[in-house]
Order: sequence, then C-alpha cells, then structure tokens
Amino acid sequence: MDMWKQSTAARPAGIVGGRVTAAVGTQTAANGSTLNEPWLRYSVNNLVIQPTTLCNLDCTYCYLPFRDKNRRLPKVLAEKIANDLIELDTPVTVIWHGGEPLATGLEYFKTLVEPFEELRSSRRVEHVIQTNATLITGGWCDLLKHYDFGVGISLDGPKHFNKNRLNLSGSESFDGVMAGVQLLKTHCIDFSVIAVVNALNIDAADELFSFFGELGCSSLGINIEEREGTNQKNYQGRERVEKFWNRLFELWVAQPTFKIREFSRAISWMEAATKGEASFPKELRYDIFPTISVDGSVVMLAPELNGPYSTVRYPSFTVGNISDQSLKEIIARAQDVHYVKDYLKGVSNCRDSCEYFNFCLGGSASNKFFECGDLTHTTTTYCENGQKAVVDAVLKCLEKI
Ligand code: SF4
Repeated sequence: MDMWKQSTAARPAGIVGGRVTAAVGTQTAANGSTLNEPWLRYSVNNLVIQPTTLCNLDCTYCYLPFRDKNRRLPKVLAEKIANDLIELDTPVTVIWHGGEPLATGLEYFKTLVEPFEELRSSRRVEHVIQTNATLITGGWCDLLKHYDFGVGISLDGPKHFNKNRLNLSGSESFDGVMAGVQLLKTHCIDFSVIAVVNALNIDAADELFSFFGELGCSSLGINIEEREGTNQKNYQGRERVEKFWNRLFELWVAQPTFKIREFSRAISWMEAATKGEASFPKELRYDIFPTISVDGSVVMLAPELNGPYSTVRYPSFTVGNISDQSLKEIIARAQDVHYVKDYLKGVSNCRDSCEYFNFCLGGSASNKFFECGDLTHTTTTYCENGQKAVVDAVLKCLEKI
C-alpha cells in the first residue's frame, strides 16, 4: 500500500506523509516555477527512487506491478541522479521506495546510496525509506544509522489484522515484521508506521490505538484501503470509516502519546484557521514529486503512476528518462505535461466545488486516475474516507469538548 498520504514537512513523517504535497503560503517557492494557473506553483521537495521492483511480500492490497520481478537500479543511474541533484537549488528528501527497498540487498544498496554522500553531508539531501521491516538485520540497522535514514514501516496492527500481509509462500509476515521492529528499537532507530485500515481492522480503533501506543513508533499514518494500481478494491463502508475516525480521535485526544498524521494535520489546519491563515490560499505550491524507476524513467505527481498504465486520455505517465536527460530538464517541462495540466485543472475544480478544499488542497493524482480515469475529476472514495471523514470526525469531537 502506498505511503503518500497527506503532507507534513518533517521527517520521518515525510515518508508517512508525502502525497503530492501542497504547501500553503503566499511566498514564492525557492525553486518554484509558475504554472498556467497563476495561484499554482510547483517545486521539488521530494524525490522517489525505486532501487528495486522486487518485494519479498505479496500483500493482497498492494498496488505495485512487477513486485515479483528482481530489477535493480543500476549504480550508474544512482550516480547520475546524484549528479543531477547538484543542479537543483533546494534540498531534497530522497525517498527509497521499491518494491521492498531492502530486497535490493545490503551491499548493493550501499553502492546506490554512496553517490549521495557529498550532498547529504552538505544537507542538500536526506534519506528516508519505507520498508515492510521483515528483512531488517543488524547490518541494515548500521546502514540506516550511518546514512541517517528516516524509517517508516508498514504494519496493520496486532497479528490478526495482518492477514493481508503475506510472504510469497502465503504465510503471514507479522512475526518477521516484529523481529525487524525489535532490531530497530535495539539500535535506537526511530520509526514511523503506516497502517492500512480495511475490512479486517476498521472496527478496531481501540485495539489499534493501544497496539501502536505500545509499539514505540514516533508517528502513525492511516491509509483507508484504496483502489490503486493493481489493487482494485476500495474500502466502501463510509459509516464504519466515520465511526473509526471518530473513535480514534476520541482516544487520541484523551491520550496523545504519539503522533497520528491525519490528526496532526487537521489540528494544524484548524490552528491556522483560527488565526485567519487558512482561508483561501493566495498561492499553492505543489511538490511535483518525481519518481525515478529502476530503468531511469520518470513519472510525476505520484509514485503509484509508475507502472504500465495506458488509457486513451493518458497513453503514458512517463515524462522522460534520466539516462539521456537531466532531472532539471525533465522537471522544467512539468508545466507542459498533459496529465500534470489535467491534475492542476482538477485542483482548480476542487477549489471551486469542495468545502473541504482548504484542508485537502485538491486530492491525489493517483486516486483520481485509478478511481475516475481523469485527473481533472474532484471527489474520490479516497478523499471521502481519508480527507472529509477525518475533518468531520475532528470537528464532531471538538464540538463536544
Ligand atoms: S473534492 Fe475531494 S479531492 Fe477535491 S478538495 Fe474536496 S476532498 Fe479534496
């Protein structure tokens, strides 16, 4: 399941966060570029690199195509990306996202990260990684510490809620994940968690809250199961979704011992609103979120669009290849890319039609594509379950206080 839901600037919430982020503000982005809509600008704050297509798990709700194929990013392309980043004027968070990044192999992965060392030591690059945690070893912990990785893991709660998270053999992965978590803790490595909420755990807010409270994660992000990539299921039970958020928020307000991404964001938004800063933003700055796949091809807006997706409206989401163009050149063309233009039109449509816009800022390109086939679209099941229901739950609970 993906990790790009909502936006927070800090790491490691940057992994738990992410999504095509929109920073609200009236200032011009340092590397901002104008788009056709004068109130929209874009910049690059996050870069996703796919070190391998391979995953050692086969979760039933996974969106990733080719996760059974072992294709690795060539070292020469890692060096090219690092060189290309020198040309960008702002710091970038490099998000290593597979497949399962640790399936790349420890020694090989080191050779992919090493070209970024100069940039990292001058604070122009920081690394984050999202992992299923089952392949973590002492050696991986040393690497994560050495390169100062922000670490996010995927886990859906106690063991009985992880029946969708299966090894390739079909066995459950939970014990392997917990062994990895234990190693992170032994090595004093902070980690955040992404949990997918689906038919198994949607009625278990209390159990999830207590499990994650005890786990020792620094923050939790919740993704309600959504239809994306190779996963064709959307979680449709709106009433249960609302109950879930309501209960989780009640628990969290009573005992806010760890961050919950969605609530932190809602509270920040409300705080801004009370200061009069969250009225209609004069300018939105969108992170164009380039994703570089193992063959050097680049997609924009969402890593979920990195796949063999082709429709009449969108024959391809690939906008270039870093083997023969610089990242800067590719990014500079963003404003001319058909699907980026469509997405921004969709943001504009959201602004004109949705009362949740100032919180949501226009939704996600991948959900609009996979649910509606059209990035100019507005409402999706994802935004109903993951945006509107969160705001409603928070407001409802605060009204009672
Ligand atoms: S319609 Fe959905 S995606 Fe658009 S602003 Fe509203 S909540 Fe967000």
